[in-house]
Amino acid sequence: MACRNVLVTGCSSGIGLAVAVRLAKDELKRFRVVATMRDLDRRGSLEQAAGNALNNTLEIKELDVRSEESIRECVNSIPQRQVDVLVNNAGVGMIGPLECQSIGSMQSLFDTNFFGLARVVKEVLPDMKRRQSGHIVVMSSVMGIQGLLFNDVYSASKFAVEGFCESLAVQAMKFNVKMSLIEPGPVITEFENKIYEDAANMDLSDTDEETAKIFKQIYLPYSKAIFTSLGQTPQDIAEHTLKVITSDSPPFRHQTNKLYTPLTALKQADPSGRLPLDAFYKITFQHNRVLNASLALLRLLHRGSRKEPKPEKPA
Ligand code: NAD
Repeated sequence: MACRNVLVTGCSSGIGLAVAVRLAKDELKRFRVVATMRDLDRRGSLEQAAGNALNNTLEIKELDVRSEESIRECVNSIPQRQVDVLVNNAGVGMIGPLECQSIGSMQSLFDTNFFGLARVVKEVLPDMKRRQSGHIVVMSSVMGIQGLLFNDVYSASKFAVEGFCESLAVQAMKFNVKMSLIEPGPVITEFENKIYEDAANMDLSDTDEETAKIFKQIYLPYSKAIFTSLGQTPQDIAEHTLKVITSDSPPFRHQTNKLYTPLTALKQADPSGRLPLDAFYKITFQHNRVLNASLALLRLLHRGSRKEPKPEKPA
């Protein structure tokens, strides 16, 4: 297979950084990576992780998904504007009671998570259609399939991402352009740290006492326990992404965490939607002891099965 140009967004940290580095260090040298970020002053961690791949199979460029101009400038700087694979990864999170979030902050989240995707795809899809080849890989989430308590706005943005891709995928197919959604469960990155930090400082005075209590005393501890029990590493997600990109017949949807699949499957099992609602209600408000015990067990199993990361080969 010829060397493919891969443009990745949101590479200053987390999953984007791990994907860019994993592809750039591919043993078979199948990729030239354009690792982009909105603020080049934050390039230090990526440069360090890229090692010998830097300016060899990995190039760092500026790209802010909120600006069409920034996206166009970046794509124009690539010879022949040739983006063979787009990994749309840039995203931001938000948790908490709806009443405590401003419409402005919700719009800003959509501007990155949904309109950011729409802008980048608008820029690269026409070239891909003309070339009759390309692959658009989008970092969605299991929350793009199943909503979660106190994640209303974030989950809505990922539902938008899923609907957008599902609609576009059929047209793309006609032009031999592939589309894939990667759907991670919890991943331990700055994303998680940032949302918990925001949650700890959140002004809850705009909601009622009971909702504030549910958020602080039930949701936050559960959510943290779920991250430590089921959380994957950005490197795990990078391996899944590599598999999707190199597949002869890439899946449209790819969940990275098997432990989460039963929860998303509830939705397919009951078109009335009651099954997942009842299950999540019971898990949250009635069976917290069972949930805590299961998470503790999973934590143990997870720890036992976690492999040491393989040493990275030079690019
Ligand atoms: P992260 O915060 O480490 O990374 C997000 C990246 O997006 C950062 O580098 C940030 O600078 C960048 N970004 C934000 N706004 C941007 C903009 N306007 N233009 C360009 N880049 C911008 O978090 P992460 O966990 O690596 O998240 C990456 C993606 O994975 C996101 O789309 C997120 O929704 C998704 N995801 C994360 C988790 C998780 O639990 N961490 C789970 C499922 C899906």
